[in-house]
Amino acid sequence: MKNIVLFGPPGAGKGTQSERLIEKYKLIHLSTGDILRAERKAGTTLGKKANEYIEKGELVPDEVVIGMVANKINENLNAIGFIFDGFPRTTAQGEALDEMLNKLGHPITKMIALEVDEDELTKRLLLRGETSGRADDQDEATIRNRFKVYNNETLPLKDYYDAQGKYLGVNGMNRIETVFGDLCKILD
Ligand code: ADP
Repeated sequence: MKNIVLFGPPGAGKGTQSERLIEKYKLIHLSTGDILRAERKAGTTLGKKANEYIEKGELVPDEVVIGMVANKINENLNAIGFIFDGFPRTTAQGEALDEMLNKLGHPITKMIALEVDEDELTKRLLLRGETSGRADDQDEATIRNRFKVYNNETLPLKDYYDAQGKYLGVNGMNRIETVFGDLCKILD
């Protein structure tokens, strides 16, 4: 199994690159943001509860997302591999993911970080907010809070994967095709 964590701040291009990567490498796209939005759309209790956090730019509690990820992995045990997008977002999530994958004998192969500066990220998110209908992309205060949460809660995962010799950075400021090319070089 090829199990890749695609890492980076909100707006870095994880979703865009994931779509291309799953097409090329036939991996399963596991985006916790997408699953949470689908739950909200379906009007489930989980979706309604999660939305209270998402609207404020806060993280949904670890046990909720870890459970969702465990289900999705268990539904796809014969997959070639997974692209984890937007997960893990805390060290506790990283540890839980390692535990699940190690049990299966298919640990994370690489953690690839898309690096983009905050001015560019803000521009991209506000632009996405104009068309996506995502409330969390339309309000600058919410966007700022997501960066704060990212820097405090999520960024420590860089060191976590670096300590395992799995961390790699890619310049996410480049054009979509260039970034995709850089990612393919790593995966091939
Ligand atoms: P982005 O990376 O653009 O912020 P996502 O679609 O990955 O967007 O996530 C949207 C929101 O969903 C996050 O701001 C957070 O509230 C919630 N969320 C997604 N993934 C996780 C996760 N792994 N842990 C906690 N909350 C999450």
